[in-house]
Amino acid sequence: MAVTVSKNPYNGDELNSYKNHSKKEVSEIIDKADKRFYSWRGVPFNERQKLMLAAAAEMRSNKHEYAKMLTLEMGKPISQAIAEVEKCAWVCEYYAEHAENQLENRVIKTDAHKSYVSYEPLGVILAVMPWNYPFWQVFRFAAPALMAGNICVLKHASNVFGSALNIEKIFKRAGFPDNCFTTLLIGSDAVEEIIENKKVKAVTLTGSGPAGSSVASLAGKNIKKTVLELGGSNALVVMKDCDIEKTLETCVQARFQNTGQSCIAGKRLIVDESIAEEFVEKLVVKVRELRSGDPLDQETYIGTLAREDLAKDIEKQVNDSIKAGAKLIVGGKRHGAYFEPTVLTNVTENMAVFKEETFGPALSVTTFKTIEEAIDLSNNSRFGLGVSLFTENIEAAEKIIHKFDEGAVFINELVKSDPRLPFGGIKESGYGRELSADGIKEFVNRKTVYIK
Ligand code: NDP
Repeated sequence: MAVTVSKNPYNGDELNSYKNHSKKEVSEIIDKADKRFYSWRGVPFNERQKLMLAAAAEMRSNKHEYAKMLTLEMGKPISQAIAEVEKCAWVCEYYAEHAENQLENRVIKTDAHKSYVSYEPLGVILAVMPWNYPFWQVFRFAAPALMAGNICVLKHASNVFGSALNIEKIFKRAGFPDNCFTTLLIGSDAVEEIIENKKVKAVTLTGSGPAGSSVASLAGKNIKKTVLELGGSNALVVMKDCDIEKTLETCVQARFQNTGQSCIAGKRLIVDESIAEEFVEKLVVKVRELRSGDPLDQETYIGTLAREDLAKDIEKQVNDSIKAGAKLIVGGKRHGAYFEPTVLTNVTENMAVFKEETFGPALSVTTFKTIEEAIDLSNNSRFGLGVSLFTENIEAAEKIIHKFDEGAVFINELVKSDPRLPFGGIKESGYGRELSADGIKEFVNRKTVYIK
């Protein structure tokens, strides 16, 4: 019987050990989930709404308990963990309020007496989720999926099983019927069989490119819909007419929150050459001020990375880039799973910190002379999740939005997810959209109805 052990990345202490579900148990869970679907899909919206609001209330009342588990399992600073739990309550409230309208029949005039599209749930949906936002990544899928009448089974990352079980607990405490949401305690090797199971109708995955490619291939083989939210290497394009103080604040947050472990983090700073020196000087002051420490301390802004191997990955990317000619301005050292907030200048397009995704607190700086050059630098990435542009000339910025190959363009703001707006990428950042009315329609059958 396989066992998964979770460890606190800050001090290496063992937190818990979990007995993995066996194949038989997984199959039984899916049977029960499928059975539940046939009653859950008939539950009226106002009932689902009450349950979803209860889930939100449960998180708001016990946010400290849930946040602490996030922090212990993956090193996220506690203040950011609390904010994550609160954001999950928000997404539940958002879909509780809007799902019914978003899924209203869409009447289309034809030569029929009546014709429309009705949006119906698909059934059991498998979610394969990562450890960087152990609550948020799951809730932004689960809240719309459940409100649409689907059933969720979660395969969470192996280092955050405590949080995965807490999510199941939240839905239980909120009063959802049994088996509406179930956490599977399994490794990634058990995913194939689940995708092959006829009772599982679709898959959503957030995580790395290789994981996404593997899951999407299996789903393709079994003709099942997928949504993929993979990596990113967002640029922060800083123009010479920006408000420097505000831009600095935003760029530091964009790169260093969640200790840099975010798909939508601003990883590549691309700054106008004429202000680069002043900008980097001020940036470094701010980066030095970021407080590292015990993730459970309210004042800590930089925690540890979620695992030591992830810290080693970023250390290698930074060292390789220095060898290739990048200049280390601040940081650069690793202690166990902790990696210092780091800034590298003189970064060129062939360096690891530019061309690969850096999943930790390291910011690369590259300069540009013309806006066309800035656009080319920004687009020179295999990812396409989002970009931030900083300028006081909004009119000129709006004219170039279409030149960025991205799922999102944010002006004078970091790229962030918001329940009201669609979220997702292009290129190797994946496909499909989460959140908003777009997100809830990913896992529905758009049924065409024609009445002569
Ligand atoms: P993974 O993508 O490997 O893990 C994410 C989830 O996918 C986990 O639940 C994992 O399970 C599962 N998984 C991994 N491989 C497979 C597979 N072949 N079939 C089915 N499921 C699979 O992330 P890592 O932890 O390895 O992180 C590596 C890198 O991925 C990061 O450095 C970062 O660049 C990127 N990443 C991007 C994220 C994002 O938000 N887009 C989030 C996390 C990581 P298990 O834990 O059991 O292996």
